[in-house]
Amino acid sequence: MADIERVIMPGVTHWHSPRFYAYFPTANSYPAIVADMLSDAIACIGFSWIASPACTELEVVMLDWLGKMLGLPEEFLACSGGKAGGVIQGTASEATLVALLGAKARAIRQAKEEHPDWTDYEIISKLIAYASQQAHSSVERAGLLGGVTFRNLPTDEKFRLRGDTLQEAIQKDRDAGLIPFYVVATLGTTSSCAFDVLTEIGPVCNKENVWLHIDAAYAGSAFICPEYRYLMEGIECADSFNFNPHKWLLVTFDCSAMWLKDPSDVINAFNVDPLYLKHDQQGSAPDYRHWQIPLGRRFRALKLWFVMRLYGKNHLQAHIRKQIELAHEFEALVLSDDRFEIVAEVLMGLVCFRLKGPNDLNEALLKRINGNGKIHLVPSKIKDTYFLRLAVCSRFTESADIVSSWQEIKQLTTLLMEEKKH
Ligand code: PLP
Repeated sequence: MADIERVIMPGVTHWHSPRFYAYFPTANSYPAIVADMLSDAIACIGFSWIASPACTELEVVMLDWLGKMLGLPEEFLACSGGKAGGVIQGTASEATLVALLGAKARAIRQAKEEHPDWTDYEIISKLIAYASQQAHSSVERAGLLGGVTFRNLPTDEKFRLRGDTLQEAIQKDRDAGLIPFYVVATLGTTSSCAFDVLTEIGPVCNKENVWLHIDAAYAGSAFICPEYRYLMEGIECADSFNFNPHKWLLVTFDCSAMWLKDPSDVINAFNVDPLYLKHDQQGSAPDYRHWQIPLGRRFRALKLWFVMRLYGKNHLQAHIRKQIELAHEFEALVLSDDRFEIVAEVLMGLVCFRLKGPNDLNEALLKRINGNGKIHLVPSKIKDTYFLRLAVCSRFTESADIVSSWQEIKQLTTLLMEEKKH
């Protein structure tokens, strides 16, 4: 442990410092740590039901508990009695890729039914996927890994993808003989926490027979609070939905929850069935190896169970509400100083702000803020406007931290402005 302090800790970025505001949060809590230790101690690899039945069965039940807590439509849950259900992926990036591979398999199957003479290669070369220009970089990567073309569509003045933009793009591609097959809508974009308009996008996808995947990596946790569910209206049109409890729901990394209304196409997309992985109960419970990219998987459902049982819905809701309140407190402080402006509507725990004026002034300010070492922020840029992002990340952040962080930003701004004058 002395070596940990000496060699490791000086090189660790303190994501749980109350004045760490970079990226998005990564969750941490006592029950999640204990559950992860237990998972490491049990050390089973639950790739199929028989490989460790409790590992699979707890995951099925936990994803139902979690889905109900979020208010997901029944059609996504295993308890609905159909094919639907949830799975824990490692990351949102994997969920986006897995959904894309399922959508690709479905599109190939359907195209072959209509055009039996077309080869797989011909069909794949026509497949087109869509997301907004504000989608996370992992969405573009899913396209690269899945070997299909992605179109990054423009957003409205609130940085949201709208239905008519999507409809137009799909129509244009259909007219050119291409096959639109997959849309990723983001609820809570990384740059500014914008919410694509699902009530418009969903019906377009359904009408056009295009797989709709929802990436709610960060903001999805907020749907445990009924007052934020208006932001996921239209979710019933989706084929798959994903968010990261490891970001904002007190479950340590990695735990990315994904639900599929019908996992058949995902399961069939990469189903390889050697004798050593077969078992007598196949088909009666999910064999999660077919729902994910790796074969091996940890007992991650334990930490969902521990966190939900120890805190309960009310305490988890209180955590989300407190962090959103702190973000609004910071927003009000920014608005009280007319040197600054707010760049995007504050809906969750993220505040996007900037000094009125050129980008290089804001770049210089951020350099000083991070250089001073008291608080940590990262920037982003939308349509050539550079801004600073303050994401409430740590469970230890209190109102006093928000106030002192704002004082720090104000003081460094005043110094910067004075130096610019001379
Ligand atoms: N999608 C969004 C909207 C994100 O904000 C992020 C990360 O911040 C991701 C996807 C990627 O998440 P992961 O690291 O779980 O792949």
